Amino acid sequence: MNKQLQEDLSSLEKIMQLVSEQGLSYLKQLAERPVSTTIEAPTPAGMPGKGLGTIETLKKFNDRWEPAMVAASGPRYWGFVTGGTTPASIAGDWLTTIYDQNTQSAKGDGDISAAIELETTGLLRELLGLPDIFLGGFVTGATMSNFTCLAVARQWLGQQSGNDIAKEGLTQKMKVLTATPHSSSIKSLALLGMGSSNILPVNTMEGNREAIDIKDLETQIRQLNGAPFILISSAGTVNTVDFDDFSAIAALRKQYHFWWHIDAAFGGFAILSDAHKHLLKDWEQADSITVDCHKWLNVPYENAAFFIKDQHRLLQVSTFQNSNAPYLGDPLENFNYLNLLPENSRRLKALPVWFTLNAYGREGYRYIVENSIRQAHDLGAFIQSQPGLCLLAPVRLNTVCFSLPAPANDTENVMAFLSALNKTGKIFMSPTHYKGQPGIRAAFVNFRTTEKDVALVKELLLHLLPLYT
Ligand SMILES: *Cc1c(COP(=O)(O)O)cnc(C)c1O
Repeated sequence: MNKQLQEDLSSLEKIMQLVSEQGLSYLKQLAERPVSTTIEAPTPAGMPGKGLGTIETLKKFNDRWEPAMVAASGPRYWGFVTGGTTPASIAGDWLTTIYDQNTQSAKGDGDISAAIELETTGLLRELLGLPDIFLGGFVTGATMSNFTCLAVARQWLGQQSGNDIAKEGLTQKMKVLTATPHSSSIKSLALLGMGSSNILPVNTMEGNREAIDIKDLETQIRQLNGAPFILISSAGTVNTVDFDDFSAIAALRKQYHFWWHIDAAFGGFAILSDAHKHLLKDWEQADSITVDCHKWLNVPYENAAFFIKDQHRLLQVSTFQNSNAPYLGDPLENFNYLNLLPENSRRLKALPVWFTLNAYGREGYRYIVENSIRQAHDLGAFIQSQPGLCLLAPVRLNTVCFSLPAPANDTENVMAFLSALNKTGKIFMSPTHYKGQPGIRAAFVNFRTTEKDVALVKELLLHLLPLYT
């Protein structure tokens, strides 16, 4: 065996211990560690001929890159919608790497790790109040989940006119209706050949809303004259966490012919809050649903689930079947994830989710969700109370979308204010544009965030504000 490989195998215990100690020290100082860095990346280094071995490589990493690691899973990383990492999910994620299963089939020759995935998507379904007529699976993020669901929707749409799009390619323009889709759905339409500019935009409701206007939706459906289409609806828009009216959509579904997809990347978790679960009423009537796990579920990247109704299994298989590999057997008879989603070889992404759901249960997740919502309302109320700040939309769930009031609200000034806040390294928030106005978004999804963190950010806002008003 190569010398470095041999030596590493004999010092495995030491290696694991060093990594474990380093991980622990990182996690322990996560709250104090900066959430952004001004460190410049070193010049890319070359490929060593003779390897260093892991212990020396760890030193090299610590020297070159470790200081640049930002506290993305820390309590004051409020940019995008960035979840933390629960202890149980870290344990599950480590073990995913160590066991290194190639998760495909649930029974038979070889491993059965897909049975863990099926059990885990079952747990997630239960947590989210979804019936077991949905098949779940794990992909890398909500983007890929939207892609997976919309790929099956595309196959369905082709089938309505007797076309097998997976085999024939697109034969016609696909009709897609939506009001405020996440950018990743638009990207998915581009990837799927449906064309991101072929969307038929539906109005949003009046009164500072991002939810779909049901009247306009029905008008547009009528104009299609019975042609089938795909509806992409939102359970939580990113700017203001608005929800489409799923009961109204379910009622339209009884009358008209369409594939109903819901992007519930983080908003699906609102079902855990008694005060907000009504927002998801009737969502189980959709054909497909996207849920992110590396956001509100607080598991490490890359982790999301799709849920697609079982009744569409044949379409799902015709979309994703790995059909030129005869040794894999009949895709309908032999359950195998590689015939159901984009990837072939894949890691056991279910494990961190399985660990965290078992470790904290429904009560743990209810706490996380309610805690985040409380903090968003706390920050929102503070912003509303400050004459130098303003909310761009009411706080509906776990995100605060705010800005500086006129005349300080030009893009340059708002972005300079955000940049000054982020440069402190104590808070990280995202820039946005909402209804034509520049703004700042704070998204609460991390279980580590406490009232003290919110208080600290309020102080920072007050401290920097005079320079920008
Ligand atoms: C974050 C998000 C996505 C994209 O998810 P990734 O995990 O970044 O791929 C899609 N839809 C919504 C509503 C989101 O919030």
